[in-house]
Amino acid sequence: MSLLVTGTLAFDSVETPYEVRDEAIGGSATYAAWAASFFGPVRLVSVVGTDFPDQATADLRSRGIDTEGLEVAAGKTFRWGGSYAKDWNTRTTKFTDLNVLATFDPKLPQSFRDSRFVFLANASPEVQQKALDQCSNPEFVICDTMNLWIDIAREGLVELLKRVDAVVMNDEEAVLLTGERTLVKAARHILAMGPRMVLIKKGEHGAMLVTPEALFCLPAYPVADVVDPTGAGDSFAGGFLGYLASVENTQLHTLRRAMLYGTVTASIAVEGFSVEAFREHSRGTIERRFNELVAIVTI
Ligand code: AMP
Repeated sequence: MSLLVTGTLAFDSVETPYEVRDEAIGGSATYAAWAASFFGPVRLVSVVGTDFPDQATADLRSRGIDTEGLEVAAGKTFRWGGSYAKDWNTRTTKFTDLNVLATFDPKLPQSFRDSRFVFLANASPEVQQKALDQCSNPEFVICDTMNLWIDIAREGLVELLKRVDAVVMNDEEAVLLTGERTLVKAARHILAMGPRMVLIKKGEHGAMLVTPEALFCLPAYPVADVVDPTGAGDSFAGGFLGYLASVENTQLHTLRRAMLYGTVTASIAVEGFSVEAFREHSRGTIERRFNELVAIVTI
């Protein structure tokens, strides 16, 4: 398997209805790479500042995440702050300090360029395109995005969508991007923009996979104790692509299984701040929850 993840490494300051956590290790690529690492090795391309702890990089390596593509730039690491309402679904971004991300020019190590499976996790569409430009012959490329980039970098995002196999976004972002009133219409609209499939995340209501031929919907795995929803979407995408890369197959039947694996890795991510809950589980938990989810959705 050769799986590349590019995106952000961050310090997240998060306020949930019950707890506050300042400067926890987060970022779209952190969550995605950790989730994907349950399925096999991962190649990481990102940037941090000189304030990023060596221990956090060592943690990534201990998971089989190759950090050769992690640049340490002069300056401060990207910082993001957000808070959640009592419904756990409504999130307000309090600040986004790009710091070293503002001038990030991703460079893929030579040994990463042949990656077959590529996840362009949330970052500016410009950075995502630059990373993709350096992949020699990817088999399956997914990108993520968010409202900030839809608002300030729409043109770049529209260009990027023409070059990817799949896009993953949440329900609000799909509506914001397309102006459609329903998710089904928004998904079809996005398909017309380029990708051959769209994955729409609906928070605790699950996720939907839409292709021109198929529609597949899945509830979230019912988590009893949500601690912090941050990173659920990235962990969903990381688990989804990690599984696809591990079986090297992207047929519809495999995509449906991958949706379950993504749902399961997201369910673990929300059980702790940062990547704390991932540390407590192994592939055994993933398989157990996969089977539980199958039972939950089967008549
Ligand atoms: P999720 O909850 O899956 O949407 O992802 C949350 C993660 O995305 C947090 O760890 C943030 O550090 C990171 N993040 C927030 N805003 C951005 C942004 N504009 N670009 C890239 N990553 C971001």
